[in-house]
This record gives sequence, C-alpha cells and structure tokens, in this order.
Amino acid sequence: MDEPADSPAWAAAIRDIPDFPSPGIVFKDIAPLLADAGGFAAMLAALAAPWREAGIGAVAGIESRGFILGAALARELDAGFVPLRKPGKLPGRVLEEGYALEYGSDRLQMQADALPPGARVLLVDDVLATGGTLAAAARLLRRQGAVLAGAAVLIELHALPGRARWPSEAPLQSLLRL
Ligand code: AMP
Repeated sequence: MDEPADSPAWAAAIRDIPDFPSPGIVFKDIAPLLADAGGFAAMLAALAAPWREAGIGAVAGIESRGFILGAALARELDAGFVPLRKPGKLPGRVLEEGYALEYGSDRLQMQADALPPGARVLLVDDVLATGGTLAAAARLLRRQGAVLAGAAVLIELHALPGRARWPSEAPLQSLLRL
C-alpha cells in the first residue's frame, strides 16, 4: 500500500503489477477500479471537478487507457472526444509527433480535421511517467490549431520527472501522486 493517508477510497482498487510489461517496471493496473461502478463514478467525478467551468470543447484521450477515461470525462464535461492514436490506425490526413521512450521511440497521430480551429482541448491519460507521451500529445494539439486548456491524469509517478516536461503555461492536474 503506497497510497498517502488522504487517498480517496477508490484509489485502493488500483493494483501494482511488478515487472510488467518488462522487468523493472511496476505497472499501475487500473482495471479493477474501472470494473467497480461506484469507484469508477467517484474517480470520474474527481477527474472532472477542476475542469467543469473551464469551457472545455473537446477531450483528447491518448491510446489506449486515455480513451476509456477520456470518453467518459468528455460526457461528464458535455464535451466532444478526439482519439490520439498509435501510427496506422486513423484514416485520412493525419498529423504526427514522435517522442523518445526509455528504449527506442514511439509516435502519436491525430486526424488533421478532428477539431475546429481554436477549440479548447483537455488532454487525458491514465499515468504520467517520464512525460514524453503527454508532451508529444500537447505538441500535436497545438500544431493542429487547438488551444491547450490543460491535462488531467489519474496517476502521477512522483519518482519520475514527467511534470518537468509538460509545457508550464497550461495546468496539469493529477488525482494521485504515487
Ligand atoms: P511516459 O511517456 O513515460 O510518461 O508514459 C506514459 C504512458 O505510458 C501512458 O500512456 C501510460 O499509460 C503508460 N505508462 C507508463 N508507465 C506506466 C506504469 N508504471 N503503469 C501503467 N502505465 C504506464
């Protein structure tokens, strides 16, 4: 149990899975939380709370757990939803940003016409680790012409410097710092 004493009750449903998907990684498994109706609802209400008056037009979710949280959050905020995907999944003209991983690199794409110019967008993902994914997603949205309203993540891994890679002018809210 590494949750701080003031953790919400639903946080206990998140499991640590050691050495997944590779040795040395402690995977934060949110599946048991999503499977619990009351916990999912309480977590979603907390995730939405800072953004209810922020004029969010669309929520952009990062593949793949960001889709689950993002689509639910979009409904909660009465906003649209836009998927940011791994390469080769989206039809039509796409914009792409690359980012470095611990070993190798990865890319994220979005459809070029996914949002009207100037849309106020909230980025969502489950875990902020090194911050490369969220920073690439922010670059993608800005290139597309969106206004980056901020980012919401469920879990921020405080031992890693993810927050330092986030563009500082937009707020980054995390529900749990583990
Ligand atoms: P990063 O770019 O290093 O911040 O990694 C963030 C992305 O990788 C998110 O989309 C997460 O879903 C995933 N991720 C990274 N570390 C973990 C972890 N320890 N547990 C679960 N997902 C993780």
